[in-house]
Amino acid sequence: MTATAPASERTVRVLIVGSGFAGIGAAIMLRARGIGDLVILERAASLGGTWRDNRYPSCACDVESVLYSFSFAPNPDWSRTFAGSAEIHRYLERVATEQEVLPHLRFDETVQEAHWDEEAQRWIVQSTSGPWHAEHLIVATGALSDAVRPDIPGLDTFGGPCFHTAQWDASVPLDGKRVAIIGTGASAIQVIPAIQPRVGQLLVAQRTPAWVLPRHDRAIPAWRRALYRRVPRLQGLARLLQYLRHEVLFLPFRHRWLRRVAARLLGRHLIRQVRDPALRTRLTPRYDIGCKRLLLSDDYYPAMTQPNVTLVDQTITQITPTGFVTADGTTHPVDVLILATGFRPTDPPLAPFIRGRDGRSLADGWRGSPTAYMGTTVTGFPNLALLNGPNTGLGHSSVLMMFEAQFDHLNGLFDLLALSGAQTAEPTPEAQARYTSWIDEGHRSTVWQRGGCQSWYLDRTGRNSTLWPYGVGRFRRMIGQVDPEAYRLAGLAEHRD
Ligand code: NAP
Repeated sequence: MTATAPASERTVRVLIVGSGFAGIGAAIMLRARGIGDLVILERAASLGGTWRDNRYPSCACDVESVLYSFSFAPNPDWSRTFAGSAEIHRYLERVATEQEVLPHLRFDETVQEAHWDEEAQRWIVQSTSGPWHAEHLIVATGALSDAVRPDIPGLDTFGGPCFHTAQWDASVPLDGKRVAIIGTGASAIQVIPAIQPRVGQLLVAQRTPAWVLPRHDRAIPAWRRALYRRVPRLQGLARLLQYLRHEVLFLPFRHRWLRRVAARLLGRHLIRQVRDPALRTRLTPRYDIGCKRLLLSDDYYPAMTQPNVTLVDQTITQITPTGFVTADGTTHPVDVLILATGFRPTDPPLAPFIRGRDGRSLADGWRGSPTAYMGTTVTGFPNLALLNGPNTGLGHSSVLMMFEAQFDHLNGLFDLLALSGAQTAEPTPEAQARYTSWIDEGHRSTVWQRGGCQSWYLDRTGRNSTLWPYGVGRFRRMIGQVDPEAYRLAGLAEHRD
């Protein structure tokens, strides 16, 4: 279908926005239940979401690949314990091809606005190519998709190359240059060791030292890959063990005494890798372990000890055409500026532009603090599903398992609609309010709320609206079964599964 297709061709049963893991996975789930009348709108020219966009040197997943893959599409060929972004991207493309999702994709189509038409019982979705009409709308735009540039005075005046890690410009020469990187989060600690040997000088601007733990990344030997190919159950077992390990590792996020033990054990990584006591002090985190996202790296600290690396832990007060100035008045000349300043998952970019039954947008209802029943459906927004929605993020394991649990919930909802003969489903306000209170209660004792740090997990109201506060198993058990009492069903359906 082209961008000028007639309106009738632009009416579909399910419209998915975004073609990362969540959008592709949802399409596979829908096709498996016989729903082929679906379209995926993707604003870029190819599929892949964050793994298509993040191509900075050494970009990789910090969850073991055996777990960071769909349960229904195991990959015996992962080359490393923690595969790189290009390999993950190839995996997703392969799965999408094998599962025949590609014909459903429409590239270079940005969704601008969507509203529920109560009379037609349809979503009307405006994209850059015109309107689409859909019975169901699934928003799979990801939490880490829109890069955030720091709010530092003078940033736009910088005269040299300047780019965000999520928009890496490989054409910019770094060899021998004086390069500054702002931020020391998950992206920065992967970039720093990768570029340190090439650049002349590397200035690392750190605002808050992070907890960095050993990663133990290894190449997966050919014999093991062959074994996984021959005996897929063995890889299934390896996946199960990783899953259980991560579930156990979750416990310190809820229990303070376990955090104390973990901090003592894991703090040795810094002591072992940084001998200089002054540098070690400056790299030592001053908040509870786990409060901000835990970082995994075997080579970040060693890179920070190299003679061409300078840790800048004074606040940057001004960026100038030739560098930056810090609070102590020091001027730092720089050739290239790299922004490793992350994303803002608490303000989903489409939220102001998705309007429900009463014409109000998601953002209007959320007022800075996103909520959704089971992190997936929203009262007042019939037949809308948010994948990776509020409180479905994880600080300790593979988010793909959360997506799969959401797919199960959607499957259950489609079953409910088919059985009842109804056309639309949305959670009751009571069910959503009860669920949200329960989530907030669950967060009360977590490190994210009490660990003494400012993190992107917390929204501007101070509430944790990004993370699920328990183990993954609990989410899967809770959301896997749809409670019909929690949903308001309406209308008479034209379709039957
Ligand atoms: P991030 O974790 O949000 O880190 C942003 C960094 O920029 C922080 O160190 C932050 O300091 C700093 N910063 C922001 N504004 C600043 C300012 N005005 N001045 C100085 N420093 C500033 O972003 P990210 O590293 O891109 O990672 C985001 C998320 O993406 C991760 O948590 C993870 O979920 C995902 N990710 C995963 C991987 C992986 O799988 N390996 C890799 C990359 C990203 P403060 O700490 O003081 O705020």
